[in-house]
Amino acid sequence: MATPRIHPSVDQGVKAGVAGFAGGTLECRCASGRVQINVASDCAHNHVCGCTKCWKPEGALFSMVAVVPRDKVSVLANGDKLAIVDPVATIQRHACRDCGTHLFGRIENSAHAFFGLDFIHPELSAQAGWSAPGFAAFVSSIIESGFAPDGMTGVRTRLQELGLAPYDCLNPPLMDALSTHAAKRAGKLSA
Ligand SMILES: [Zn+2]
Ligand SMILES: [Zn+2]
Repeated sequence: MATPRIHPSVDQGVKAGVAGFAGGTLECRCASGRVQINVASDCAHNHVCGCTKCWKPEGALFSMVAVVPRDKVSVLANGDKLAIVDPVATIQRHACRDCGTHLFGRIENSAHAFFGLDFIHPELSAQAGWSAPGFAAFVSSIIESGFAPDGMTGVRTRLQELGLAPYDCLNPPLMDALSTHAAKRAGKLSA
């Protein structure tokens, strides 16, 4: 069986990030008049994601997505082409109206555990050095996009080979962060 194509940024092996990397410019994929977003920070929690909501490049089973502080994200050019994909979703994904590329996703609910972080796709930047992806989230969800369930063992084996531990939700540190936040709000843990 052919090797599953996880994502073009990892299919030849995961490239390590560069310590002290200071960010870069994300661009949509329009031939001209590209939306440009400045990110004045390296990313964190970079991973590949199999959910049906994240933007994926053509032919990839997974997206590659990471977070940055929202105050480090600013629009440099052609921001008038941005539109929110789904205004009622928890993560409001700001996408280019013309080419469909998602430039950044933002959580506006200040009670959410991940409020203050924007979601970005580091591959949209020409600069190299972003923190490398470290795990695979929502792996089973690729079936929801039409991937045949009998290929899942091959996908999980490939992810393990790449050093991207496969999880069917987020990884344990992020799931623990969500639960801790929920417990504090419910008064089960002291804030
Ligand atoms: Zn575009
Ligand atoms: Zn996702």
